[in-house]
Order: sequence, then C-alpha cells, then structure tokens
Amino acid sequence: MTIQWFPGHMAKARREAKEKLKLIDVVIELVDARIPLSSRNPVIDELAKGKPRLVLLNKADLADPNHTKAWMSYFENLGNAVLQIDAQKGTGVKSISQEVQKLAKPLTDKMRAKGMNPRAIRALILGIPNVGKSTIINRLAGKKIAKIGDKPGITKAQQWIKVGKQMELLDTPGILWPKFEDQAVGYRLALTGAIKEEILDFQEMSVFLLRFLKDHYPERLKERYQLTLIPEDVIELFEEIGKKRGCLMSGGIVDYDRVAEILFREFRSGTMGRISLETPSTK
Ligand code: GDP
Repeated sequence: MTIQWFPGHMAKARREAKEKLKLIDVVIELVDARIPLSSRNPVIDELAKGKPRLVLLNKADLADPNHTKAWMSYFENLGNAVLQIDAQKGTGVKSISQEVQKLAKPLTDKMRAKGMNPRAIRALILGIPNVGKSTIINRLAGKKIAKIGDKPGITKAQQWIKVGKQMELLDTPGILWPKFEDQAVGYRLALTGAIKEEILDFQEMSVFLLRFLKDHYPERLKERYQLTLIPEDVIELFEEIGKKRGCLMSGGIVDYDRVAEILFREFRSGTMGRISLETPSTK
C-alpha cells in the first residue's frame, strides 16, 4: 500500500520517529538498493543524528551487483555500517545482529567498564514505504508479526522483538516520507514501486526509463526487444519497440500508451534483469 503524504502526515511521522528514537541505541536505515539515494528520507540525517547507523541496501536481488558494491563503499565512507540484503529470501539478514553489535561496542564497553552486564542493544528500522521494512521485521522475528503495508497514524503498544540474545528490535518500523522535489527522483521511486505510478505521467516515465537504459544498459535493450541498433532519438527507439511488440493502432500508428505500459511492467517485474537506476555519481 502506498501512502499519500500531506504536511500533517509528515509532521506526525517525524514526531513518532523522534519518540521511538529516544529508546534506541542503533538506527537501521532501510533503502532500495536500486535507488539508494532517491529512496532515502530527506531528513533522516537530522532525525538519526548522534546514533550509530546500519544502512541496509534491500532488494539487492533486483539491483545491479556492480553498482551495489559501489554503493556499499559510498555509505561506508559516510561513516555507516552497510549490508546488502534480500529480505524476501532472507539473504544477508543473519548478519544484521552482528553488525548492530559492532556498532554498539562503545556502549557495551562503557557498561562493562562500570561493572555492569551489558544489556541487549535496541534497534529501530527506519525508511520510506515499500522498501521492505515489514518483510525484514518478520524475518528477524522468525514469524509473521508486522503487517505488510503501512498505516500511519495507527498507534499500538510498542513491543520488542528479541533477535538472538544481544539485540532487541522495535516491532513497528519508523515510516518516513519520500523525497518529492525532483522529477527524476519521482520517476525512480515510481519505477521501483515506492510511490504510486498513477500520480505521474506514464509516457514521460517510460521515456525517462528508456533514456536511462539506452545510456546505461544498451545491450539489455537490444536483447530484450531484439534491436540490432539503438536509435539515437529516444522517440524513435520508443516506436521501434512498439513495432517489435505489435503495439500498433489502425493506420500502423504506434500506440504510445501500450508501449509505455509494457516498458514499465517489464522493468517492475524484473524481466529486464538486475538494473540499478542510480550510481553514486548520478546527479
Ligand atoms: P514496507 O512498506 O517498507 O514495510 O515494505 P514491505 O515489507 O511491505 O515490502 C514491500 C514489497 O517489497 C513487498 O511486496 C515485499 O514482498 C517486497 N520486498 C521486500 N523485500 C524485498 C527484497 O529484498 N527483494 C524483493 N525482490 N522484494 C522485496
């Protein structure tokens, strides 16, 4: 389910995240590995300030592995711990607790220095809708507890999920709003399922996708749509794909809406292969 965000919702989400963060030792920030920057909340750094952070590049199964590697270094260089995971299959999820322990070492050392037995480290998952927060919480809990789909504004008693002996995870994630300002960011969010596609122009979004694929994944395009050459002009490319796919109206005119739909669906379903829409050098 995708939320429509209004200023009131954003203020509430911020307030709720701040409340939860008071209880927390380590922040787990969840992003989509295909668009690690576009899928970050715009004020996450301010909200999570002062807390050690583990960045999870989720849906890594859908992202380009070479780019994911570059993104791992990018986030490490910012001073975070980083893991690439596939929450759906569970790949990489086992390492989360270990990373959280490492991040909390100064805290546990301090407790030991005071002669205390270190308590479990408390963590919270934060991220925009649809990046996989509930899926991960369910995985870590080992059973179905977090509801798939978000309902901001519905509060319930907070509970802690024990993850091994040394980590406790808040059973509800902090749900934050996505970026809105930039059109390219909007297209990337819609293409990866983080915001509703209906609020964007389908044809424009597909042209954005085609332009990107033409520049970054030309071989994939050739293979998928059986093209021998990729036309320089993106509209020509659009028409070429339409003809190959038989998306023609009477008089042999290409049906742009159908082509746009095909491109969008094939990207979304992963039929085009593992593709990242952002690299650390993307503007
Ligand atoms: P939330 O809104 O952040 O809690 O996101 P959900 O956990 O509800 O997940 C949103 C969608 O992404 C669901 O359809 C999940 O099955 C899917 N999903 C979550 N993690 C992964 C992953 O690592 N790989 C893939 N392919 N899909 C995932």
